Amino acid sequence: MSAEKKYGFTTSVLHSDRSKPIEHGSLHRPVHTSATFSYASASELAAVFQGKQPGYRYARQGNPTVGALEDKINRMEDGVATTCFSSGMAAIGSLFQALLKAGDHVVSSVFLFGNTRYQWNTIAGLGVDVDFVDATDVSQVEKALRPTTRIVFVETIANPRTQIADLEKIGRLCQEKGILLAVDNTMTSPWLFRPKSIGAALSINSLTKFIGGHGNAMGGSVTDTGVFDWARYPNIAEGFKKLPASQRGNAQIRAKALRDFGACLGPESAHHIAVGAETLALRMERSCANALALAKMLETEKAVTAVYYPGLSSHPQHDLASRLFSGFGGMLSFEIDEKVDLFACLNRLKIGIFASNLGDTRTLVNPVAHTIYYDMSDAAKKEQGIASSLVRVSVGIEDTQDILDDFHQALSF
Ligand SMILES: *Cc1c(COP(=O)(O)O)cnc(C)c1O
Repeated sequence: MSAEKKYGFTTSVLHSDRSKPIEHGSLHRPVHTSATFSYASASELAAVFQGKQPGYRYARQGNPTVGALEDKINRMEDGVATTCFSSGMAAIGSLFQALLKAGDHVVSSVFLFGNTRYQWNTIAGLGVDVDFVDATDVSQVEKALRPTTRIVFVETIANPRTQIADLEKIGRLCQEKGILLAVDNTMTSPWLFRPKSIGAALSINSLTKFIGGHGNAMGGSVTDTGVFDWARYPNIAEGFKKLPASQRGNAQIRAKALRDFGACLGPESAHHIAVGAETLALRMERSCANALALAKMLETEKAVTAVYYPGLSSHPQHDLASRLFSGFGGMLSFEIDEKVDLFACLNRLKIGIFASNLGDTRTLVNPVAHTIYYDMSDAAKKEQGIASSLVRVSVGIEDTQDILDDFHQALSF
């Protein structure tokens, strides 16, 4: 595969493994289950540890199977370097482990995946201040900034209510102020959106979701998009300042978060995710088309009082989504009339599966106020727009009419 030519998204993912020598002409990077890597001489081992020779040291910090997946994600995000983790939460946690210190401040969107909110709450108890703001409006982000603000954190399409952060303006604001913008790209995936395009420093993906796509492996990734000047970041340790500024961020994330905290991705999971990633674009297009069809149908159902999907013209950020994303995503949510028995309705579904994952090939349904947000206070739920009857649907790649028929029969009585 020629290094000069820029191939399309799927071609580049499919042929990524061939960019490096691969044993026996194998088309998949083998699953290397070794915990460690040996060298012909002690001097070579030392050279690898000192970064003077490429090579793997110990699988906590990197493994050839995981490395091949990192290359794929990096191509998808058009980044300069990607580090993988054992889950999406571990990838988000790496921001705290590698880049923040007591006394620092973070501005986060208030519209977040529930577990990310829990994680920021945990971090806020460890000496880092976290403010949650309405990130659909850049002025709310700007108002919350302090001289100690190190990171602004937003999701693209927020899980589960689909609010879309004011991405272009937040990107511009962070670039003007020299603040690191980290974007959780999970709900869009790099097929629909590249955070690099709005000036985000880091793009984070839960690989468990659309990228892996089959609900058979967990993983997470952090991609350095190359747009941020790490020379301006105050929390770079002395050891990493020896590196060129462009490499400091990823080197520190890999060392501090993987080496020191150890949430490394296993090679078997990396293999499953890499195979799934080959069809990301195809699956995503089908999921997006199914989600739009379902959202439109739900709008006509008597029992449904609200439908949240960026592809609907009624969505408050529909224009922004149309401009920034090449599709509106595979997740929607809706509310059911309070007079209707929510659980009786949902329990009639036959294709929709009651489960907590997203971005699976199968349609998954979750009454989130009663599951993911069950432990959260009523005030916090209200702030995030989580009504008691809110139902999140991760729309799969089943035949469109089967999904529509299933929801219609469940909601008609
Ligand atoms: C699922 C999810 C995560 C966490 O990923 P895991 O792989 O489940 O740990 C983070 N952000 C968003 C938006 C998610 O949907």
